[in-house]
Parts: sequence; C-alpha cells; structure tokens
Amino acid sequence: MNKIVPPPAAVVHNEQENVKALFQKYVVPSYGRFDLAFKRGEGSHVWDVNGKRYLDLGGGIAVCSLGHAHPEVAETLATQARTLLHVSNLYYHEPQGRLAEKIVRHLAPGKVFFCNSGAEANEGLFKVARKFGHDEGRFEILTAFNSFHGRTLGGIAATGQDKVKKGFEPMTPGFRHIPYNDLDAVRQALSPATVAVLIEGVQGEGGITPARADYLLGLRALCDEKKLLLLMDAVQCGHFRTGRFQSYQRILEGVPGGEKFLPDGISTAKSLGGGFPIGAFWLREGLGDLLSAGTHGTTFGGTPLGCAVALKIMEIIERDHLAAHVRTLGDWLQVELNGLVRKYPQVLKEVRGLGFMIGIEFQPKENIPVLAADDKPASLQVVNRLHEAGVLTIPSGTQVVRLLPALNLSRTDAAEGLALFEGVVRDLAHGA
Ligand SMILES: *Cc1c(COP(=O)(O)O)cnc(C)c1O
Repeated sequence: MNKIVPPPAAVVHNEQENVKALFQKYVVPSYGRFDLAFKRGEGSHVWDVNGKRYLDLGGGIAVCSLGHAHPEVAETLATQARTLLHVSNLYYHEPQGRLAEKIVRHLAPGKVFFCNSGAEANEGLFKVARKFGHDEGRFEILTAFNSFHGRTLGGIAATGQDKVKKGFEPMTPGFRHIPYNDLDAVRQALSPATVAVLIEGVQGEGGITPARADYLLGLRALCDEKKLLLLMDAVQCGHFRTGRFQSYQRILEGVPGGEKFLPDGISTAKSLGGGFPIGAFWLREGLGDLLSAGTHGTTFGGTPLGCAVALKIMEIIERDHLAAHVRTLGDWLQVELNGLVRKYPQVLKEVRGLGFMIGIEFQPKENIPVLAADDKPASLQVVNRLHEAGVLTIPSGTQVVRLLPALNLSRTDAAEGLALFEGVVRDLAHGA
C-alpha cells in the first residue's frame, strides 16, 4: 500500500461550451450567433469567458452609446432602482416627463411616447399614420427597399427586405416599398390610400446608405403637397450617432433650406438607453394629441428606471461634447479607411456612412481567393477574422462590415481598431 496512485485527470472547465450548451438546449435558435461568449465589459472593451479582450466597435449594434459599465450610468441605475423602479402609466413621475422634455428640446416642439424597443416605436408610428388618415380612408405607408424596421408583424411588413418576411405570410396590409433615394419613385407610387412615407436617415441593416440631402428636402415638399406624414426611423442612425442628434441634421448641414427641415415623426431606441431597453417616438406639434387617452399604451413604457438612465446618458453626451467628438473622430476614421481602400483596392471596395455609423464594403468574394474558398459570405468571414484579431464589428448583408462604436470611443482605441482592421485586410490582400 505504499505505491503512489496516479493523479486524477484535471477537470477541464470549458465555460464557453457550457454556456453554448445551455443555449442549444433552452434558447430558441432564431439568431445566427458567433462562437463567442462574453462575461464583462469596460468602456469600449469586452472580455469573453476565456479572458480574451476585444475592442468593441459594434457597440451591441449601436446600443452601448457610452460603452460598457459606464460608472455614472451604473450609479444612476442603482440609485433609481433603490428609489423607484417602476410605476405604471396610470400615474405620473418626473423622469418620464424630463426625458420627453429633453428629446423635444433637441428636436422641435412636439410630444414623445415611450416604449421598449425599436420595432415597438415604429409600430407606434404606424398607428399614428393610420389614425391620421383614418377619416379619409388612407392607411398605406411607403417604405424603402433595403430598409429595416423591426421584427413584429408590422415591422416585417414595413421592412423592404424579403428575407425577414419569408415564412410569415400573409403580410400585414398597408405597406409598399419604393427604391431609396429616389424621389420620382415615391411620386409614382402614391395612391389615394397613401398616408405616410417612412425612411431611415441612414439605412443601417441595408448596408449603411445615407439619404441624400435633395431626397430629404424633396420628400418633405412632396409630403406637404400630398398631405402625407414624413416619418423617420432613427432607431439606429439617431441619438447623436452621426455627430448630430438626428442624421437629417447632419445630412442637411449647410444645405439651403436644410435648417427648416423637420419630419412629422421620429422613432428611436438602440442608443437611447445605452443598453437599458427603452424606445420612443417623437411627434411634431399638433400630431402628438392624435393618440388620445386609451388609444395606445405599453406596460413598461417609460419606467422611472429606463428614463433616469436615458436622461443621464443624454446629459453625459451633452456635457462631454460627444456629438462633436463623433464628428471629428468619425471623419478621421473615414479618411483613414478610405486610405485603406486606396491601398488595398483588390480587397476593399468603398467606405460609406456618417459619424460613428460606418460601413466598409468588401470586393466580391471571387476577387479575394482566401474568402472565395469558404461558403460563408465575405462579411461574415471578415467579422470572424476580426474576432481572431480581437475586434468586434457587425456584418451587414454579404459585403459590408459595420462599425457602430460607443459615442465615447477614444482616439487611442479608434487607432488600435484601425490597425487591427488593416492587419486583417493586409492578410486578405496577401492571400493569408
Ligand atoms: C434595430 C432596428 C429596428 C428594430 O429595433 P428593435 O429594438 O430590435 O426592435 C428598427 N429600425 C432600425 C433602423 C433598426 O436598426
């Protein structure tokens, strides 16, 4: 009995596989997920369960407006949770009123309704449009091809992409699609039933395509002429992402007549709560009262907690001049990325976007031998390679990689991201 027994095999903890196993067993598989599981974040960095650090240039798809674990946001959340977390919309409370006031002050006189997501904000706009046209029998809303407006039944009917509708027919009636940035197409599509036009100021899921200034001004004039509502889905491109509160303000800067432009309704969500789920829509003066008591509502809309967080985020964005920061650093990023397009024309096709909403279009896969060898779309393969390099980005369609970083992304982090991105592009150019 004096023989030494061999030691037992070490227990291998593979936290990532354990987390994945839970999803495989218990979570509806409606998302195509990357092979990454995250544990914590700080500023523009996140750490996966294995302790690897990533620079987050995807921002939770334009959600984490102040990055991860912002101390002031965390403090506001905790304090409000200890004070008053929820009361129903049967009552009044200050944070909802204050947040509505702040949004109105950034836009123009009008009123705000609070909800929980982008799709829900758009649903509200659809209802406003139907109410607006109801007595004249008008209900149809025109939206753009390649748009994205959410995953509810109304949202997929409004979205101008077949892939979101497939399998969920029949579609909710009352939506028709028109080519984006084409004013004549809108004019030709109008019917006696048309009541509104809904567009994104910068198409996000469609591959980062900004509206042209003349299109916006033309749409406004056409909507005025035909008594239509001009509605804008700012869920992704709004909330300072382009370097102004709203993308149209940035697009129309310095354009004659641009300062007078105003949509009739705007939906917002993503960046508004910085990660706390909150959505909203703003309606221009005179329209806000269309939704009279009892006509629209949602249990969780505009809770004290959500509104206190969103209010704090807006205060920080203003205090720290983040809109100006987004313009300067966003412009710099685009200049640098355009430099890469010139340096690696066989890999990169084009850079588009405004502020911190940037799309990098890759050349067709056939032109890049190492990507052509794999079935996956170029965008997914590049995003995966960027993961290897320690950067999070978001694919958009088959050809575009999106950057939607936190509005407080530092110049150092931006430069680091750019260098890592160039490394991936260089490899592709050299067939690695
Ligand atoms: C994300 C998004 C939506 C949907 O928002 P959810 O919060 O996911 O419902 C709607 N419109 C646009 C432009 C978006 O980017």
